[in-house]
Amino acid sequence: AVHGGYRTALERGFVGAKVPLGLKRKRLRVVVTGGAGFVGSHLVDRLIERGDNVIVVDNFFTGRKENLVHHFGNPNFELIRHDVVEPLLLEVDQIYHLACPASPVHYKFNPVKTIISFSQLLLRFAPVLSVHKTNVVGTLNMLGLAKRVGARFLLTSTSEVYGDPLQHPQTETYWGNVNPIGVRSCYDEGKRTAETLTMDYHRGAQVEVRIARIFNTYGPRMCIDDGRVVSNFVAQALRKEALTVYGDGKQTRSFQYVSDLVEGLIKLMEGEHVGPFNLGNPGEFTMLELAKVVQDTIDPDAKIEFRPNTADDPHKRKPDITRAKELLGWEPKISLREGLPLMVSDFRKRIFDDHSEVDL
Ligand code: NAD
Ligand code: UDP
Ligand code: UDP
Repeated sequence: AVHGGYRTALERGFVGAKVPLGLKRKRLRVVVTGGAGFVGSHLVDRLIERGDNVIVVDNFFTGRKENLVHHFGNPNFELIRHDVVEPLLLEVDQIYHLACPASPVHYKFNPVKTIISFSQLLLRFAPVLSVHKTNVVGTLNMLGLAKRVGARFLLTSTSEVYGDPLQHPQTETYWGNVNPIGVRSCYDEGKRTAETLTMDYHRGAQVEVRIARIFNTYGPRMCIDDGRVVSNFVAQALRKEALTVYGDGKQTRSFQYVSDLVEGLIKLMEGEHVGPFNLGNPGEFTMLELAKVVQDTIDPDAKIEFRPNTADDPHKRKPDITRAKELLGWEPKISLREGLPLMVSDFRKRIFDDHSEVDL
């Protein structure tokens, strides 16, 4: 009652419960940290669509107002410019905690001598510390908030917690193979610490928590110049540049379309299980195979250029999603060949038609 009845929704069993047909679902107050980013903005779309009150908390480090502009003016939507490293007081029922710079070029010095865009150049100097701080202090603050108001907390962790995995495909029971002092560690170890904090608040303070381990995800609204492989290849093919394959191109990743991920995140939040759950598409591709799909989709004449690989690059990655299938009733529906064209049309528009990369 002190906090405006946020416990009521939980106590009445609305959160996570199946609402019988014909009964109106209670409107939840949901925070999405990192909601101006790629995944967050798609999640916000779905939450608004189902009638929730959504508060986005974002410092616009990599996120953009354009991703949310269609909700401006909606009374059920609120956008707060705030860095989660600072404490925050809100009264809510659920917290989706996504805030974190997520692409390798955003969190490490890229030793590969590539021609880089201005935005990448700026991001190179973004302090690596802020990633770790966001993962550790930011997650601590959001857990403190969840504890105070009795909200349910969902952490978007990552397949990077498995490091360069010695088990293939990766199950949630695998503890991983992470270099603690490498250039990727601020992210990998940061997320591992965030998982630890989440479980500590669960065990020690009875906070209701959920942990998702997200595998490589792509789709509309990805940062065009964030250096991730799908965004790089798509932007390069559209700009008639060569596709830059790092290393021998035989390393693998499994690519998930963003709407599948969003459905998984919501099912996880609403379900009864803490996790961690792998959320990813088990369709596994070498980078050369990915380049071929991009050529088939955009430009069969696109050239391939080999570049030296980055340090500590995981050799392969593929989720075992048995747990999510059995306990959440979730599995991805959209294959790479179906999803890629949807991303391509968004990239084409943003690269050629407008100036939405300009900061608002
Ligand atoms: P993104 O960079 O598009 O979004 C992250 C958002 O967090 C941005 O809007 C950014 O401005 C915001 N942010 C960063 N630091 C912040 C801070 N200190 N305070 C407030 N806001 C802050 O990345 P994304 O791909 O949408 O990733 C979302 C989440 O999913 C991240 O936690 C990421 O680690 C996780 N994840 C993503 C992938 C993927 O392939 N996209 C894979 C694994 C895990
Ligand atoms: N916190 C926050 N919002 C809240 C409650 C807590 O940002 O509504 C922050 C708080 O500032 C602290 C962190 O979350 O830094 C952890 O809070 P907790 O109460 O668990 O720990 P304590 O404050 O007792 O160290
Ligand atoms: N990669 C590539 N060309 C690029 C960008 C990345 O071949 O232009 C490779 C990279 O070396 C890695 C894989 O693609 O092996 C996936 O990289 P990304 O940064 O997208 O994701 P992550 O390494 O975090 O899984």
